[in-house]
Amino acid sequence: MNNRQLFLQHVAQTTDAPLALEIVKAAGMYMWDADGKQYLDLIAGISVCNVGHCHPSVVQAIQEQAQQYMHLLVYGEFVQSPQVSYAKLLTDHLPDHLNCVYFTNSGAEAVEGAMKLAKRYTGRPEIAAFNRSYHGSTQGALSILGDEYFRNAYRPLLPGIQHLEYNNFESLELITENTAAVIAESVQAEGGVIIPQREWIHALRNKCTATGALLILDEVQCGLGRNGTLWAFQQHGIEPDVLTLGKALGGGMPLGAFISSKEIMWSLTNAPILGHITTFGGHPVNCAAGKAAFQALLEENLVKDVKAKGEIFLQYLKHPRIKAVRSLGLMMAVQLESFEVNKKTIDYCIANGVLTDWFLFASDCMRIAPPLVITEAQIIEACKVICEALDQL
Ligand code: PMP
Repeated sequence: MNNRQLFLQHVAQTTDAPLALEIVKAAGMYMWDADGKQYLDLIAGISVCNVGHCHPSVVQAIQEQAQQYMHLLVYGEFVQSPQVSYAKLLTDHLPDHLNCVYFTNSGAEAVEGAMKLAKRYTGRPEIAAFNRSYHGSTQGALSILGDEYFRNAYRPLLPGIQHLEYNNFESLELITENTAAVIAESVQAEGGVIIPQREWIHALRNKCTATGALLILDEVQCGLGRNGTLWAFQQHGIEPDVLTLGKALGGGMPLGAFISSKEIMWSLTNAPILGHITTFGGHPVNCAAGKAAFQALLEENLVKDVKAKGEIFLQYLKHPRIKAVRSLGLMMAVQLESFEVNKKTIDYCIANGVLTDWFLFASDCMRIAPPLVITEAQIIEACKVICEALDQL
């Protein structure tokens, strides 16, 4: 059996039509398959590789840390300099009250931790989340996921969950003094890039403050520069009580985090102690990688060009078959007539060396979320292939 057949046979499959490309190398904006074919990456491993694949300083940081030490003991016992210095660097670039970082293994674990933290801090039973939101696949994160089709197969899920409508003022009335937290993506990603209206997200912030519910902003997908500011919430002019991060946080290695004030985080410390436990969360090699990626993001000034790069996409993505493009920076949803049209377009793009896909809750939209290092020439090349694909239909 070849590797592809072994993959289908022995690696668990959660879709009946996996892409099953065998990639042997990736660098910067590109990946290469086992036949040497090159792919321009428009999805960055779902918003992970913001500084490009295998950024040299990330690779170097991994190698150096792996030679120093790898796993030592469960999270929180030893002073491990990669964790400490990354937590310091992150909090230096966040509002003053977001000054305490709990590192996790993944985005979903960050969301789980944030939900638990809100329950402990407020002593309240309910969590509110939004329709069309995605926060992860574990049972707590699945309970708040905003799509009944995906939730229903796993009931019973967590009790006390309210689902609200994003960008809907009336929905905010459901936030009460029983609500421990409201969790929202700063930009809804899997819903097909839904941007909150400014007045609405301010009303959400105010309602949380008035009722004493914590506002958790999930920037697992949109954080770390993708929308054209380091944090998406900066564009809305509000601040969360708790921030969840993941994906690009590890620079290509698995790392998530929930971040709050020291005062809020303190509620995980006593009665019972060990409010959240993780063996590998904040792994030193992953923190070293994440910190190197974060430094590259800053030193190469990558965030500042994101909006202009997004504009170039918009300029070249002109085709009668494109119904709409929703975007903020380099997070874009290109809306087509139907899933069938989208799928054919994506297949053509992949066959012609441009890697893209669709969204979980917007199957008629093509995802464009490339590494932030994409150049103008690469954007034009990608748009040319997409428009050619649409011409073929
Ligand atoms: N939150 C958001 C907004 C996400 O997009 C995702 C992943 N797509 C998650 C949480 C969960 O992250 P992970 O897959 O690392 O568990």
